[in-house]
This record gives sequence, structure tokens and C-alpha cells, in this order.
Amino acid sequence: MNATKGGKALVVFSGGQDSSTCLFWALRNFDEVHTVTFSYGQRHHKEVSVARALAEKAGVDFHLVDLSFISGIGTSSLTDTAVEMDSVKPADTFPNTFVPGRNMFFLGAAAVYARELGIRHIITGVSQTDYSGYPDCRDTFIKSMNVTLNLAMEEQFVIHAPLMWLDKAGTWALADELGVLDIIRNETLTCYNGIPGDGCGHCPACTLRRAGLEKYQESVKGSKREEQ
Ligand code: ZN
Repeated sequence: MNATKGGKALVVFSGGQDSSTCLFWALRNFDEVHTVTFSYGQRHHKEVSVARALAEKAGVDFHLVDLSFISGIGTSSLTDTAVEMDSVKPADTFPNTFVPGRNMFFLGAAAVYARELGIRHIITGVSQTDYSGYPDCRDTFIKSMNVTLNLAMEEQFVIHAPLMWLDKAGTWALADELGVLDIIRNETLTCYNGIPGDGCGHCPACTLRRAGLEKYQESVKGSKREEQ
């Protein structure tokens, strides 16, 4: 994005670290920002109230859409408490925290809503780097979905994925650059056990988030040392 702001954007927003960072990225790059949050049968409905509070804080419109059918047609440890969550990534596939079809349905629904609002720019916090290898977070899927949505509705949507090539440390660096590191650290919910901020500290989401933060903090210290 260039330095001049412009236009309207819709952020696919969950209240987690990634989409919250994207929300503040969007506020820097667009004049008018809206959010859409999906309820999809996630274990922790608290996500929704966290997202609502953050949207309010950021002064943007918050819209909740029910996509709970997603948990009725597929299986995931994120939506089904009877399925024990993989704590490590299996060697040959992605962990069972994968929610089949989630980003396809999210982006499809977001595009329909964006069209209603006269919005062309859709922002998602997916990342291909440093994650569990979910296929619907990869760059090729996002590009393909972008084409599909344009064909489906004869529109010119542009899907932005500002975190696509960032690892977690890079996402923390971006939050810091946007001046919202503390908000992201204290007021978002990433933890699979539903605890906001630094979370439970031991689930896969907390482990990844903390490792990224430590790596980022180390790199800041390192560059300060070099300056001296
Ligand atoms: Zn946790």
C-alpha cells in the first residue's frame, strides 16, 4: 500500500492477534473501515465479545454473522470439544485445529457483505509463514478465492493479506510499528483455552504467540545494542 489513504475496507475480524493487527493496518491504509466477525461454533464464544470490544475501541463498525453451520458439517478440535486438540503438528498433515472450509466460507460471506456496503477491499489476517500449514491460509488459496469471488459476483474485490509472509515475530513488529503493541498484547484473544491477553501460556496458539513476541523483543534489544 502506498502512503496515501483511500477508500473503504472490510476486515475479517476475530479479535485475535492477527486480525486485530490487520484492523489497525487497515485504519492506517483506508479512510473507512468496517469489520465482520463470524460465529462458527468456535469453542470460545468469548472471541465475539473480545472482537466487539476491540472494534468499539478502534471506532469501527462491528457486524456479527452466524456461520455456525460450519461446525455442523465438518470436524475440528476447535469446534468440537469431544475431539482432543493436537498439541503438536503431525508430521504428514495439519493439526486437527484445522476447521475445514473456514476461510472459504468466511471470505465468501465477507465478500457478499462487502458488496452490500459498496466495499471492494477485503482484509484477512491469514499467513502462510510460521503456522500450522492450513491450506486455506496459503497465498495460492487466497489468490484463487479472490478470482472466484470476482467471477461469482462480477465484482472487482481485492483481498489483502498483510501478514501473508510475516512470521509471528514480524506480526508483533507490525503491531509495534502501528503503535498498538500493547493493545494487541493485552486485549486480543488467541488462546485455544479462551484466555485473553497472554493466555493460558501452554496451548499451541499461546506457544506460537509467545515465541514470536520473545523473538521480536530480542531483535529490538539487539538493534538497540548495535546503536550504542
Ligand atoms: Zn492458550
